[in-house]
Amino acid sequence: MPPAAPPAVPSPHPLPRLLRYGAAHRPAVAWAVTASVLNKLLDLAPPALIGMAVDAVVLGEQSLLGRMGVVDGFQQVLVITALTVVIWVLESVFEYAYGVAWRNLAQQVQHELRLDAYGHLQRLDSAWFQGRSTGGLLAVMNDDVNQLERFLDGGANELLQVATTVLVVTGSYVLLSPGVAGLSLLPIPLILWGSFRFQATIAPRYARVRERNAALSATLANNLGGIETIKSFSTEAAEVDHVRALSEDYRQANRAAISLSSAFSPLIRMAVMVGFVGTLVYGGWQALEGQIAVGSYSVFLFLTQRLLWPLTRLGSTFDLYQRAMASTTRILDLLDTPITVRDGTVPLPHPRGEVRFHGVAFAYPEGRQVLRAFDLDVPAGATVAVVGPTGAGKSTLVRLLLRLHDVSGGSITLDGHDLRELRLADLRGAIALVSQSPFLFPGSVRENIAYGSPGATLDQVRQAARDAEADTFVQALPQGYDTVVGERGQKLSGGQAQRLAIARALLKGAPILVLDEATSAVDNETEAAIQQSLARLHAAHRKTMIIIAHRLSTIRHADHIVVMDQGEVVQAGRHEELVARGGLYARLWAVQTGERAGGPP
Ligand code: ATP
Repeated sequence: MPPAAPPAVPSPHPLPRLLRYGAAHRPAVAWAVTASVLNKLLDLAPPALIGMAVDAVVLGEQSLLGRMGVVDGFQQVLVITALTVVIWVLESVFEYAYGVAWRNLAQQVQHELRLDAYGHLQRLDSAWFQGRSTGGLLAVMNDDVNQLERFLDGGANELLQVATTVLVVTGSYVLLSPGVAGLSLLPIPLILWGSFRFQATIAPRYARVRERNAALSATLANNLGGIETIKSFSTEAAEVDHVRALSEDYRQANRAAISLSSAFSPLIRMAVMVGFVGTLVYGGWQALEGQIAVGSYSVFLFLTQRLLWPLTRLGSTFDLYQRAMASTTRILDLLDTPITVRDGTVPLPHPRGEVRFHGVAFAYPEGRQVLRAFDLDVPAGATVAVVGPTGAGKSTLVRLLLRLHDVSGGSITLDGHDLRELRLADLRGAIALVSQSPFLFPGSVRENIAYGSPGATLDQVRQAARDAEADTFVQALPQGYDTVVGERGQKLSGGQAQRLAIARALLKGAPILVLDEATSAVDNETEAAIQQSLARLHAAHRKTMIIIAHRLSTIRHADHIVVMDQGEVVQAGRHEELVARGGLYARLWAVQTGERAGGPP
């Protein structure tokens, strides 16, 4: 499936959407447009000055300046020279102005779009990410944003200047000689028709290029993440073939776009030639017949060049425009993706940590029912364990508690408030999670433990590490707490990474601690030590603890144990009661302690 989100509603044209998005920059856009147009107007003046100079020399008193009172031919030349200097200086000033204006605008817009897209992405429901790949999303936030930046950098000015040229030159022609004007302008409808046909045909080809690019980026990102798996299964050659196939798709998509975009300029050039030859012949004849002034004839020839040649660049500018619009659509579609997990309004500044699941039902998008009528009471300060076979829905409970997804039936409350009413920052601030696969950021051990507690001192970090049984191994690392852990913590063992994650959660100091298979990768001895620390902390701070574990020795001392199977509570009680009662828990316990089980686990 394509990595970027399909728009929820059919997208209107991207340009008005982009203008609406960038409404705050209207004054900057207006200034950039003004500078571009003024620069072009000044740039078009020299042909008129040349015509005036020719007239001054050929016609003398009969020239335009002569009729305005500057009788002497040489004085006319001096006036024209002064005008030329002023015009060229102003042209340079506006060239500088539009260059700075457009490029700064491009920088501003790309910066804002990237931040907005990333900010929005962070707020999207976890389910939304499932159909997307990291590489595809990266392509939107990098390549697509850069594409728009490139258009604003140069293409927008180019389009404006071509439009100004067409309007000014057409106006001048009509004033000078409508007959010659007709011939010079003859190819313009053809050029415009060709440009728009080109635009319509090339757009889907560029969209395909973008899609292929996203698919390629996605695969590269996945493969880099799974490089060890690739090596261990010796699938390097197959992966190279996979990347080759995608890269080939990308190349072919580009070929289709290139063949069309390259044909544009040569074809348009032929149309330009018709206009120029027409002006040359018919204008020359009129000048020889005395129907137009020699100066006007030279103005015509220069202006025809000025008019028609820029039109040949329309192809590449439309090219840039199309690419930018394809990219804009993808970025704005991402920004328009609705946020389903909405923030609540109720503040909870001092949470006690009482959690209740009432008849909770939940299914992942396009998935089967994971939870059905699930009930669980976790009083503030209690330690509750959730156990059950793999796939029973234990981690799903945690995701729902953090509102990474919303329940589809029933409700979850914290201190009596439905989670959906609470401010998300308060809800998540009340919970410290150690997840099944903790994520470490590239940075030092200290930074990783203090992630989420930016003001923590080194002493506080070390205390958390001691409580998580991490201090000893951290001290033994080459740079102690300043040791860099590598991307995703790859320089650490699984058990070491888990202990850092526990230290991070402890440092957060939240009233609810959720441990989801938090010690699955540490040895029994270390796990026992961590448990003792947690018991000590629990006795001191009365935190609410929700512990999910497969290893039942981890949770046997919990106040309350809930046994889940297929999304439902099948047993509940304390360890001794559950072992004595028989059933799923007793079977699991028997298997783990090596005793003979009463039936299949
Ligand atoms: P384990 O003990 O293996 O960690 P668990 O009890 O924590 O398992 P969950 O991770 O909650 O189980 O998953 C419960 C069910 O939901 C499983 O059948 C799983 O296939 C499904 N599931 C989990 N995550 C997703 C997801 N993101 N999208 C679709 N289905 C999912």
